[in-house]
Amino acid sequence: MIGAGPTGLLLAGDLAAAGLRVTLVERRPPGISNLTRAFSVHARTLEQLDARGLADDLVATGTPVTDLRLFGRLALDLSRLPTRYPYLLLTPQYEVERLLERRASSAGVDFRYGTELRALRQDAGSVTAELADGTALRARHLVGADGSRSAVRTALGLPFPGASVIRSMVLADVRLAEEPGKLLTVTASEDAFAFIAPFGDGWYRVMGWDRTRQADDDEPVGLDEVREITRRALGSDLGMHDARWISRFHSDERQAPAYRSGRVFLAGDAAHVHSPAGGQGMNTGLQDAANLSWKLAAVLRGEARDPEALLDSYQAERHPVGATVLRSSGALVRLAMARTPLRRAARALATRLLGTLRPVAARAMGQISGIGIGYASGARRVPDEPLREGRLYEALREGEFVLIGPAGAPAPLPATAPVTPGRLIRAAWADPARRDTLLVRPDGYTTPLQG
Ligand SMILES: Cc1cc2nc3c(=O)[nH]c(=O)nc-3n(C[C@H](O)[C@H](O)[C@H](O)COP(=O)(O)OP(=O)(O)OC[C@H]3O[C@@H](n4cnc5c(N)ncnc54)[C@H](O)[C@@H]3O)c2cc1C
Repeated sequence: MIGAGPTGLLLAGDLAAAGLRVTLVERRPPGISNLTRAFSVHARTLEQLDARGLADDLVATGTPVTDLRLFGRLALDLSRLPTRYPYLLLTPQYEVERLLERRASSAGVDFRYGTELRALRQDAGSVTAELADGTALRARHLVGADGSRSAVRTALGLPFPGASVIRSMVLADVRLAEEPGKLLTVTASEDAFAFIAPFGDGWYRVMGWDRTRQADDDEPVGLDEVREITRRALGSDLGMHDARWISRFHSDERQAPAYRSGRVFLAGDAAHVHSPAGGQGMNTGLQDAANLSWKLAAVLRGEARDPEALLDSYQAERHPVGATVLRSSGALVRLAMARTPLRRAARALATRLLGTLRPVAARAMGQISGIGIGYASGARRVPDEPLREGRLYEALREGEFVLIGPAGAPAPLPATAPVTPGRLIRAAWADPARRDTLLVRPDGYTTPLQG
């Protein structure tokens, strides 16, 4: 595994917990930075963490937000989402990484910090990674979770087509003299927009953009510039002070055409990048990892009925999700940047439609939160279900398939199951009236029982 960001940490931890030998190579020295890029964790990601026994610990580090306010008019109410976690959790990316790193370490992942991938080659039986410290690692599979400038992707010769979507966005983590309210706020004026999110510990993340101040990423940015942009967008800078981090960045929309090349896979930012609007990058990467880990584990443990088809299903399921996230986050940022009267009218219409048409709003929330995401294969998210003993997402903590049926009538493993697991968790519905049988994949999606 190359790259110990959130994606690589989750994947490595899953594989080690499945009893496999995993080496995780990370360019950085050991230790987690306290500066954070991502700060929002969506419901589906929390469900995935619940399936690993980590959700409660993460929720304890953050602030749940149920209302999302866009462009002053539209308030989306996440509290209606049909999930155990009907909110957006604001918490710094380093808290997610800290939990995942601890889990991966205790599962036995071999961390190689302070070195990086330089080259790789693969043949019919293995893949070899050459590292900057002169060592070479040989493995049956390799995953590039090494971020947007992925050396793995480059070594595979895969392009990363796309374009820059927005430049000269400013970011500051600050304290505010005026409380902006509990809402996560995005406000846009004609030439500027600003976004403010509370971390819950007195610090706020401010992101802003001003059409009249476009600069390269390396041009210095001070708090005055952030204040000015926020005033232009919001009418007030809310008395921001004491910035602990200020930065200027640009954002690209790019996606690798293939997530698999032979024995090598791409996941997370190595496979797709997009604007931070909607806060979906880390969330999408974590869900890539949850989709790939059980498939790789099944193949490496010799349990897959058709190993090649199972490994190919990673790309078939996750590439379309990446493409949708690129589209939706791009649409949000373009709405925020709307300049012409026509585009601003389109923004007003879009926010009005979302605000008044419940099915449209529900679809948008399902997509952003991840709980509405299903796969063309027919696999659908399974919500948490009460079982005769405990609940489904507790049963999933074994990292195995869970077969749920009526109490006292254990169903056989369906012939259409993609694996013949060494261990299958059998469970019974808490509701004695329920007679159906459901085979749940380790990532909490259904396996269609009719082939
Ligand atoms: C301003 C901003 C705000 C954001 N907000 C959100 C948000 O609210 N919600 C959200 O979900 N996402 C957000 N994102 C996106 C999110 O930060 C990324 O999507 C996420 O970090 C991707 O995780 P990853 O593990 O795939 O890659 P990364 O976090 O980039 O990790 C890759 C790792 O690989 C290592 N590495 C790189 N090259 C090599 C090499 N050759 N050899 C060894 N190691 C290597 C790197 O050091 C790094 O540790 C935001 C991004 C930005 C810029």
